[in-house]
Amino acid sequence: MTALPLTRLTTHIYISPPHEETDRPVLGAIVGEKSVLMVEAGNSPAHAHSFLEALARQHIARPSYAVLTHWHWDHIFGASALSRIQIFAHTKTAQAIQILAKLDWSDEAIQRRVADGKEIAFCRDCMRQEFTDSERKDIRLRHPDITFNTRIEIDLGSVSANLIHVGGDHSADSVVIFIPQDGVVFLGDCIYDAIYDTPRNYTSAKLFALLERLTALDASLYLPAHQETPISRSEFLSLAKKYKTIGSLVDQHGDDRQAILTHLSHLSIPNNEETVTLIDLFIAGRQKPVSASPISFDTPPKGNR
Ligand SMILES: [Zn+2]
Repeated sequence: MTALPLTRLTTHIYISPPHEETDRPVLGAIVGEKSVLMVEAGNSPAHAHSFLEALARQHIARPSYAVLTHWHWDHIFGASALSRIQIFAHTKTAQAIQILAKLDWSDEAIQRRVADGKEIAFCRDCMRQEFTDSERKDIRLRHPDITFNTRIEIDLGSVSANLIHVGGDHSADSVVIFIPQDGVVFLGDCIYDAIYDTPRNYTSAKLFALLERLTALDASLYLPAHQETPISRSEFLSLAKKYKTIGSLVDQHGDDRQAILTHLSHLSIPNNEETVTLIDLFIAGRQKPVSASPISFDTPPKGNR
């Protein structure tokens, strides 16, 4: 079996890199004296197996636990490979998995959902790269064993992992994993935009609250799930500042891009592609985007109007 490359990041933490073509996220292992926690379940059983193999080759104990950062396929489809591993997830993630488990994941069915506006082409294309049609037809989505709503702390022996629900624009169920002893935060995808929406977007209300919570953690390294290298604390603080500045200017000027760019030039924020993309994402967040997500957390309870 192939083993993923494994890097020791800090005293207790090992990570394997993301793979862009098939949308594989960073996988992590937090290694305590008593037990090991795996971060993310991988985007397929093959992905999960390759990570477990990498741990075994470095004589690291098999994880006792795994945590799902949110419901998106690339973070949960490997869960069926995690036998004898207890899976933690937010209550909303578990609700989403119940719905996803009933869906047909064959090429034909996914294509139909994309055509019906219930799935996005990006996920379809990456899933096709990661596994064959027949492998996906047989996919079994495993339900989490332990669910929580706000936060939970797991004592792994000499190191603990705090699973904290943070939400955000990317997905309302997003959870981060904070390891205070090592000063590390696994971000999952929480700082990314709303990818299932057309147009994709950020809202200042959700993103600002999220950034406040993340910067309040006493962390020196932040790990987005689809980025090769971790972000240092100083880089994360300047990123947060930039997002807040641009989001506030969009709140102030609406869709007047020129007024926003003029204001930004006085603040020495360069007028480059990244800045313009961010402005457009915040402007889109003030409109009413259409979602192609198979999961909706915003549906009011039956009987409510
Ligand atoms: Zn995601």
